Amino acid sequence: MKKIALITGASRGIGAQIAKTFAQNNYTVIINYNSSQKLAENVVAEIIGFGGEALAIKADVANKNEVEKMFQTIIKIFGHLDVLVNNAGISLNKLLIDCEEEDFDKIISINLKGTFLASKYALKSMISQQSGCIVNISSFWGQTGGANEALYSASKAGVIGLTKAMAKEYALCNIRVNAVSAGVIKTQMNDEYGENFYEEIKQQIPTEKIGCPQDVADAVLFLVSKQANYITGQILNVNGGILI
Ligand code: NAP
Repeated sequence: MKKIALITGASRGIGAQIAKTFAQNNYTVIINYNSSQKLAENVVAEIIGFGGEALAIKADVANKNEVEKMFQTIIKIFGHLDVLVNNAGISLNKLLIDCEEEDFDKIISINLKGTFLASKYALKSMISQQSGCIVNISSFWGQTGGANEALYSASKAGVIGLTKAMAKEYALCNIRVNAVSAGVIKTQMNDEYGENFYEEIKQQIPTEKIGCPQDVADAVLFLVSKQANYITGQILNVNGGILI
């Protein structure tokens, strides 16, 4: 029987690649999205095109009612959930003194509260089945702090704290919780900074390579695999050495 994986924010970028990678590895994947319905449907079509199984569900991860409804739909259709990947996220490139309260509320709501909400509902199902894996997508900025990225850094540091605490709380329920802390990955999130951004930041990366979504997807797949059976509460750096 195929395992069921929910990937939040899987309409493009890292989330879409995680979804495709899981589908190629015998998972039925649920593609969560908020506003990019067409892109999410394209990811589903691509997966079905190569013989995989996928379903798109809209839910704003920052909205409790929408997240709860998404989980009700998943349990109704599939009966259980094996893997949750908390990937949905936004960035914000602003000096702290220019950030407004609304900026704080928005980025914390999506990046941190969204991880909390999806985990809460996934855990309900995972605890009753006494198995499951959660992987949260954090960032090296959450470990080292980024100038112009204070609120983003805080949200991703929060994700790391949540990961470690959840790992301790649910270890005895046979549920493993880990995070991938990604470096600079070529996606729409960074594309807006222009081609110079990648050239400049490459100088700071020991491998002199920008990461790609597949680099993150492979790490997530490893963390949910049986090869990672004794790994919980860990933050796996996938960053080309930009933070060691
Ligand atoms: P991206 O290309 O901008 O994709 C972001 C995804 O999140 C989209 O699918 C988007 O879907 C979804 N999303 C945004 N707000 C949402 C919400 N409220 N509810 C549900 N889905 C939502 O970004 P990415 O680079 O792939 O980033 C994916 C994750 O990796 C993020 O958590 C990011 O912080 C993290 N990360 C990225 C990098 C990097 O260099 N790219 C580095 C470290 C960590 P909709 O358009 O449908 O809303």
